[in-house]
Amino acid sequence: MSVISTRCKEVFFRKHLRDHFQCSRSAVKDGYCKQHHPESRKALAIKNEARYNANILKRASTTDVRLAELEKANDALEAENAALKAELEAERRRASYSLRKFKK
Ligand SMILES: [Zn+2]
Repeated sequence: MSVISTRCKEVFFRKHLRDHFQCSRSAVKDGYCKQHHPESRKALAIKNEARYNANILKRASTTDVRLAELEKANDALEAENAALKAELEAERRRASYSLRKFKK
């Protein structure tokens, strides 16, 4: 048995060296090392996707909480504004009534 056949059969290209290299780990299953076995890669891909989705959900919920806070603050300001407008209108009506009485 040659040395190569006991090594992982994964071959990758090193761009900066412009050459192909074979994985230096020893083959443990189906000619692949633990990292490069298709099953391990599939499991890793599933794990990464789950982490990616969890991060998206986390970020989305953070945004939702902020949005809810802003909407609540906005509602409070709108209610305050409506109350002030009503007060202003009442004051204007009272003022014009007093002026009318004063002119007579
Ligand atoms: Zn390998």
